Amino acid sequence: MRTVLRGAELLPCTPSPAGTRLVRADLAFVAGRVVAIGDVPAEPDDVSVDLRGRWVLPGFVQPHIHLVQTLFRGLADDMPLMDWLQNRIWPLERAHDVDSVYASARLGIHELLTGGTTAILDMATVSHTDSVFHAAREAGIRMWCGSAMMDRDNLAGLGTTLDVAMRTANDLADRWHGPDLLKYAYAPRFVPSCSDELLRAVAREARLRGCLLHSHASENLDEVALVRSLTGTDNIHHLREQGLSGADVVLAHCIHLSESEIESLALTRTHVAHCPSSNQKLASGVCQVPELMARGVHVSLAADGAPCNNRLDAFAEMRLAALIQGTRLGAGALPAPVVLRMATAHGAEALGFPGGELAVGKVADLVVLDPDVLWTGGEPASAVVYTMDPRAVRQTWVGGRKVAEDGRVLAWDSAETVSLSRGSLGRVRARAAL
Ligand SMILES: [Zn+2]
Repeated sequence: MRTVLRGAELLPCTPSPAGTRLVRADLAFVAGRVVAIGDVPAEPDDVSVDLRGRWVLPGFVQPHIHLVQTLFRGLADDMPLMDWLQNRIWPLERAHDVDSVYASARLGIHELLTGGTTAILDMATVSHTDSVFHAAREAGIRMWCGSAMMDRDNLAGLGTTLDVAMRTANDLADRWHGPDLLKYAYAPRFVPSCSDELLRAVAREARLRGCLLHSHASENLDEVALVRSLTGTDNIHHLREQGLSGADVVLAHCIHLSESEIESLALTRTHVAHCPSSNQKLASGVCQVPELMARGVHVSLAADGAPCNNRLDAFAEMRLAALIQGTRLGAGALPAPVVLRMATAHGAEALGFPGGELAVGKVADLVVLDPDVLWTGGEPASAVVYTMDPRAVRQTWVGGRKVAEDGRVLAWDSAETVSLSRGSLGRVRARAAL
């Protein structure tokens, strides 16, 4: 059956200058793929959706999220990275149970879908990762997710042996790495948490199975110094030596890099997920996004976890990404049309799926915006990046299916999503004594 969205203004986000201009057109999709854009003649069996007065964009793609941390929003403010991890996030993650991980993922997915994000790359915690996939399957979000792998000792006692980490990940990949919306992505947490043997085993196994690799790198100067003391080299070089570089690898942050590390990222086509709110809130630094992109490094945009943001809002990340580069380099250092592409097409490219643009053959992952509140005729990309927020989102579609409308995820009762989270957080905090 064909669905036709009729009468909207499309903002296609394709690479040409026309990609960030509004065009009045119908958009048709079949089996989750866009099949026609333009003046689409009606057919008898069409499902027709009247979107006159609305804007339609490709859904936002966020290739670095931690759904398991959504419950911890507001419990770990005003701390630097290593303190934040060791004294709050890891003890709280360790205290999770099957139901609290489900509640946390559900709360995060609610915020993402109602805010126009249609696809994510997620890093779960060491245990209970099935619960994240269950929540994603119910809601209908497009998700790559993997258990956080940690086989080096840490103060919080969060982690496993190499063998358990690999067995857990492989079992999850067997269950969840599918052809449709849900896929497995191997997720060694970061170099200070992972032995060389684990990193090498993960790189080998992920490639055998055709799965993405997802990690953090060079977020904070203390972390960079720790990696040097552990490995004798810099993050990006060490990861590359263990096999974690290439177009199937997404590294979050990449703020503090040497010239040769930047060269390595560009040469190997390794993807960087820029997380501006998280970086500012943890006072980690400012990623050199324009410089990285000028050198050929592929950079996309994401919110990271709720306790270091404290939102999962693609609009907020776009706005801040543009503003902080202006402060560093001068006005216009990262223009709105570029930022909008980072939040859509670049994200899809990082995850290796045909999305992030409105074009025939691409997936029908869409966000429908109401421009009436704040927009009176300026540049549309500027309106999306600088002016709008999730209140403008009217509908969210993933794979040709409407999954959220007017602030509600259609699969769930919103009040239940919140009450499950509150109940779960009480248990987790009691166990963690935090
Ligand atoms: Zn992260």
